[in-house]
Amino acid sequence: MNQVNGQSHSDAILVLGGGISGITAAVEAAEMGCTVYVVERTASLGGRVAQMHQYFPKLCPPACGLEINYQRIRKNHDRIKILTLAEVASVSGEAGAFEVTLNLQPRFVNERCTACGLCEPACPVRRPRQFDYGLGEAPAIHAPHEMALPSWYVVERSLCPPGCAKCAEACPYGAVDLTMTAKTMKLSVGSIILATGWTPYDASLIANLGFGASRNIITNVMMERLAAPGGPTHGRILRPSDGKPVRTAAFVQCAGSRDMNHLPYCSGVCCMASLKQATYLRKQNPDAQVYIFYIDLRTPGFFEDFLLQVERDDKVVLKKGKVARVEEDPATGNLQLEVEDIMGGGKLQLQTDLVVLATGMVPNARGAVPLDLQYDEYGFCTRDAQPRGVVPAGLSKGPVDVASAIQDATGAVLEAIGSMRR
Ligand SMILES: Cc1cc2nc3c(=O)[nH]c(=O)nc-3n(C[C@H](O)[C@H](O)[C@H](O)COP(=O)(O)OP(=O)(O)OC[C@H]3O[C@@H](n4cnc5c(N)ncnc54)[C@H](O)[C@@H]3O)c2cc1C
Repeated sequence: MNQVNGQSHSDAILVLGGGISGITAAVEAAEMGCTVYVVERTASLGGRVAQMHQYFPKLCPPACGLEINYQRIRKNHDRIKILTLAEVASVSGEAGAFEVTLNLQPRFVNERCTACGLCEPACPVRRPRQFDYGLGEAPAIHAPHEMALPSWYVVERSLCPPGCAKCAEACPYGAVDLTMTAKTMKLSVGSIILATGWTPYDASLIANLGFGASRNIITNVMMERLAAPGGPTHGRILRPSDGKPVRTAAFVQCAGSRDMNHLPYCSGVCCMASLKQATYLRKQNPDAQVYIFYIDLRTPGFFEDFLLQVERDDKVVLKKGKVARVEEDPATGNLQLEVEDIMGGGKLQLQTDLVVLATGMVPNARGAVPLDLQYDEYGFCTRDAQPRGVVPAGLSKGPVDVASAIQDATGAVLEAIGSMRR
């Protein structure tokens, strides 16, 4: 805290959300000399990017981008404080002098954890792994993910059988502390960057596309986990129902998007995501046949080159068609699709091994900070008209790809610094 014109003033920045936007904002601000608090509600930094197999357009594994940023965080460790399992409880004050109270949930594992994994087999609990969107399983004590920062394990205490302390007994480092309790913490900051990102649209709300009725109807984010080496199938794209290799797959574009009954807007990245995922499948299985059913293919700017590359593959059929219904044949687990052929007219019938629903992105911004923020009709923060000192970044402002999120977060830092020094 400094004194400016006789008033308390902080140059510190609170970055809410530890995805690629928040991480970028944190390192850029720290490298400009600011103290930064990254407040992340899960057990680790990384956000949705950490859940991808590869990201377009270069098809790099997320480790590339994240690790470079983690190194920048480590270099600036005296300026960047990472607070995980943390959320904002209250905010008072104004730009230059916000007082923020955080609620911090216990991790039940301390900094002595080396992520050796000896605790995992000792745990009697197995439950669907949230990081894999329920496709795989994990014990109650687990690593948040393979690119987690911090890498310390975390215990989902609500799942522990009464009196069980097997993980603590198995830990050779004394890192498991099942007596930890929730805490609050107060911070003085000059500005707040809101980088709270997105959640996948709930595909079970799109009744005609059969999500939930068949395990072989998955969403695009689940497909990333199926293809990822750290995922439930160690990167082999197999049918969830019977573990068989996928020979035919259909991608359903705009699953719930650009639809007044679901998400009226375009998420901007789903066409590129499906084209990318078609390449995952084709690389693994040279005989695999892929269909992509779309209303319009949206691959703006240089992404057009990626579309052209996929179009050259004659095993990928891009068809302008609206998928009206997907149903499972219970005897085989195969999926029967009915598609309205937009150009040719009439209906197409098709059978595939797997269906991938390209669902959109729903913003997390609303309610993330108890301040009077301005949102558009879809729940994204508006670009302007926010309280001075509160700067939205990345996906909290609108659907964007990673490169745009990074650019936006860098700009948000300048705006945040300007707002608290004005
Ligand atoms: C299927 C699919 C594939 C994609 N593939 C690509 C690709 O290949 N290339 C590409 O460029 N883009 C891709 N994208 C887009 C990419 O995922 C986003 O651009 C990126 O995730 C934006 O990062 P972000 O940090 O803004 O948000 P997020 O990644 O969502 O990170 C937000 C973080 O904030 C945290 N948070 C949320 N609320 C709170 C709160 N209240 N308090 C504290 N923390 C909070 C979250 O836990 C999370 O860690 C894809 C999108 C989809 C749907």
